Amino acid sequence: MSAKKFQRRKEDFVCTKCGTTVVGDGYTDHCPACLWSKHVDINPGDRASNCLGLMQPIATEGTGPVYTILYSCTLCSQKHRVKMHKSDSVDAIIALAQARAAKP
Ligand SMILES: [Zn+2]
Ligand SMILES: [Zn+2]
Repeated sequence: MSAKKFQRRKEDFVCTKCGTTVVGDGYTDHCPACLWSKHVDINPGDRASNCLGLMQPIATEGTGPVYTILYSCTLCSQKHRVKMHKSDSVDAIIALAQARAAKP
């Protein structure tokens, strides 16, 4: 048993938000097209949460090129941060950063 360790799993999933089929590489935990994620982890990678709510990307942090995306679960409001993935849509990241700038 190694339940406490980071678990790397390759898994494909269909984005609940936009319907994009996401090919997992073991680190993928959010949709590269719309950036939405799903509340499946308690600790990163453990898939131990029973919430399964949609995680809304609400802000970006950092100055790039590698941003951190701040999420809030639409069901339980838990906050969660992940580094953007190399395959994430840069347009979506920039749109998110600008949306936050537009709404103080
Ligand atoms: Zn999506
Ligand atoms: Zn949740």
